[in-house]
Amino acid sequence: MADILVYVPNSGKSAAETLTLGRSLGQVSAVAFDDSAASLAAEYGAAKVYRVTAEGADDYFVDPKASVLIDLAGRVGPDAFLLPGTDEGRALVARLAVALDSGFLTDVSGLDAEGTATQDIFAGATVTTSKITKGINLATVKPGAVNAEPAPAEPETEAVDAAVAETDKRVKIAERVDEPAGDRPGLAEADVVVSGGRGVGSAEDFALIERVADALGGAVGASRAATDAGYYPHKFQVGQTGTTVSPQLYVAAGISGAIQHRAGMQTSRVIVAVNKDVDAPIFGMSDFGVVGDLFQVLPQALEEIEKRK
Ligand SMILES: Cc1cc2nc3c(=O)[nH]c(=O)nc-3n(C[C@H](O)[C@H](O)[C@H](O)COP(=O)(O)OP(=O)(O)OC[C@H]3O[C@@H](n4cnc5c(N)ncnc54)[C@H](O)[C@@H]3O)c2cc1C
Repeated sequence: MADILVYVPNSGKSAAETLTLGRSLGQVSAVAFDDSAASLAAEYGAAKVYRVTAEGADDYFVDPKASVLIDLAGRVGPDAFLLPGTDEGRALVARLAVALDSGFLTDVSGLDAEGTATQDIFAGATVTTSKITKGINLATVKPGAVNAEPAPAEPETEAVDAAVAETDKRVKIAERVDEPAGDRPGLAEADVVVSGGRGVGSAEDFALIERVADALGGAVGASRAATDAGYYPHKFQVGQTGTTVSPQLYVAAGISGAIQHRAGMQTSRVIVAVNKDVDAPIFGMSDFGVVGDLFQVLPQALEEIEKRK
């Protein structure tokens, strides 16, 4: 059975998805830097957990963690090493590739036992298959591309004590700002995302988008035109240069469906579009489309949702 090493940064959805993909390839050993990550690894079927204590590692950019992962990869000699496709995962995978003298792939949406990976490219318009020809199957997994499936296990745990080397203290983190979490789920992890576009017309009217999202227990998203216009904060932008989402339900209201927006939401399971222009491109990719003014359609939808609760 293939040995698969998985970096588990936390107990989030991307980590669960990466563990699930790892499990489909072989026996998973997880690398966890805290207890919540170790618990997630057990919940998602890891056979072994390397529970790392690296005092002070969080005070620096990824270098101390990269050194731990490089050491473990050298010791374990895995057939594949998977990391979540987060900013941190991408920074780590590049360092691993250099240190292990291996090729690597980012944002894979699938990987098979032979090492053939699929990636969505050109804003999701094309799917490519690729294979690493040098080193191990080292890859980051695209958030939302794999359905996370729990498989509770009782993994063997090995404690790893790591000291932070002076050479890994190149970039010190000066400040961390914790954003209030709020009641809504995180955009990248939500099962339902309700997004508004330029058609919403103002920051005040985004309250309607929020009400629909709250009625469905979902997150709020926005197109770039909406965030650029100041209707909603930039961190909620969905698309090529925003967050990639893949919820069970994506509602696009007053969004035309430009390719850069589609790149961030087209893998959603069910897409519902509300747009007053019957020719809006978003209808070409929607499962359900309502041609109409969102200020008439969404309040009616809200009424129906409330009735059915
Ligand atoms: C390099 C690059 C990266 C980009 N990255 C992103 C990205 O990450 N995410 C992103 O979203 N865009 C991105 N864009 C911008 C993208 O090309 C589009 O300009 C943008 O997505 C348009 O947003 P929109 O659909 O809200 O606005 P518009 O294209 O102006 O569409 C507004 C829609 O609202 C409809 N409408 C108006 N009023 C109503 C109403 N009352 N009821 C119902 N419908 C109504 C209109 O019919 C129209 O279809 C990027 C562009 C570039 C060049």
